[in-house]
Amino acid sequence: MADTYENYVDGEWRASETGETFAVENPANTDETVAECQDSSSADARGAIEAAAAARDAWAETPGPARGKLLRETAKRMDDRREELTETLAREEGKALGEAGGEVGRAINIFYYYAEKAMDYAGEASNPSATGQNLYTVREPMGVAGLIVPWNYPIAIPSWKMAPALATGNTVVCKLSQDAPTVFLKVTECLAEAADAVDAPDGVVNVLTGGGEEVGQPIVEHDEVDAVSFTGSRSVGDMIYEQATDAHKRVQTELGSKNPTVVTESADVEEAAQIVGGGAFGVTGQACTATERVIVHESVHDEFVDALVDYAKSIEIGAALDGADMGPQANEGEIEGTLDDVETAKDEGATVEYGGGQPDGDEYENGYFVEPTILTGLDSDATVMQEEVFGPFVGIMTVSDFEEAIDLANDVEFGLAAGIVTDDHTQANRFVDEVDFGVVKVNEATTGLELHVPFGGMNASSSETYREQGEEGMDYFTIIKTVYDN
Ligand code: NAP
Repeated sequence: MADTYENYVDGEWRASETGETFAVENPANTDETVAECQDSSSADARGAIEAAAAARDAWAETPGPARGKLLRETAKRMDDRREELTETLAREEGKALGEAGGEVGRAINIFYYYAEKAMDYAGEASNPSATGQNLYTVREPMGVAGLIVPWNYPIAIPSWKMAPALATGNTVVCKLSQDAPTVFLKVTECLAEAADAVDAPDGVVNVLTGGGEEVGQPIVEHDEVDAVSFTGSRSVGDMIYEQATDAHKRVQTELGSKNPTVVTESADVEEAAQIVGGGAFGVTGQACTATERVIVHESVHDEFVDALVDYAKSIEIGAALDGADMGPQANEGEIEGTLDDVETAKDEGATVEYGGGQPDGDEYENGYFVEPTILTGLDSDATVMQEEVFGPFVGIMTVSDFEEAIDLANDVEFGLAAGIVTDDHTQANRFVDEVDFGVVKVNEATTGLELHVPFGGMNASSSETYREQGEEGMDYFTIIKTVYDN
């Protein structure tokens, strides 16, 4: 029997008023239910928002070091449960154990990082005015922050939204994804214990599960929510952005992408294959920063394709808990999407160099396993070279000069992460200057982020209003007041 989790609202665990739960399945073995979670209603969401609104003033008035204590006490409890969190993440989302452990470690560090930042994040003193007044700024919390998160980094993303929101004095209502909510519900247990330990007001942290329309929409629409932070697909994000801006709310949307990597003629081909393979097939290609468009100089194209195929062949596909290198896709819709995209690519003239389907074998029958897929022969404007494919899928194009490579790197609507593999420093610098992407990687995979520097996209990948992570991640959740003190 799988454990049943309740929502955490106003300092207590509560069943949904619907009386219904939904099952979270293991994508490596769909016969296994990982957890039962609350199938919440809009009334549950409104209750959580009202609890957050009631706690707003008390938390805003709590000094920064005391807010930091809540985060530090949470991080300690997460650290004590590191293995359990890692196993839960691998079990419900499918990530390979090493990747799951990395994500859990990162989430713990995020809480520690913002615990420290909460101590001294404030406004700034300025030089006195021309008439001698003291001038300074204060950063005040926005109020109630509504956080809506996806399944693909189900512990890191809620952590990198919630920790800076709390550190800066906001109360939060977080709606988890229905595909992988359990790992953050366990973090919520840590938060709840920590809140008791430091005597934080009830209602500072509220976490719910349920559908996007039932629970997500009230968070976007409710008058008491002051700032909405969303990560997920472009279609849902664009809709939320419009609704929230129409309601004059602060809103941040971090969306999908189509991330390029350029391999120049001076690149070490083996190294390029490792970098592209890691970026394309790591976390089963289910990262917003995954490498999807590879632009290779014609002089190294064939050698590079051979090396990338060798890399793909070396990947052991299987259940995370069996120690595989690459786990399944997270749900049925995702694997169907990837397989459909392969068919679309073939219709558009692609040559399948490797993969393209589901692996054979009894061990794969009950899960959403897919092969790493390498395609050549596609034009830049082919559907699968323009739209995000959320699986282990990479399309390779050939160019004859560097200008063309930069043009092709920019030839997408998205702009999250771009990479270059080269031995030519001048070309690397030009690439950094000329690509329209929020993250640029030189001789590194497009995936992989540090928590203490800003993260966000350009163009269709992001609302571009504020960055997440680092100290800038805190700016989003605050508003500046400028004080003239005579
Ligand atoms: P999604 O379908 O857009 O869902 C994201 C969240 O929004 C889920 O919690 C979902 O709830 C909720 N939601 C759905 N409809 C809603 C509505 N009408 N109103 C309010 N909330 C609603 O995205 P996903 O499939 O979970 O995540 C994958 C996508 O996220 C990819 O495109 C990926 O590139 C992107 N992503 C971007 C970043 C970044 O930082 N740029 C990072 C990670 C992922 P339910 O699913 O529970 O119904």
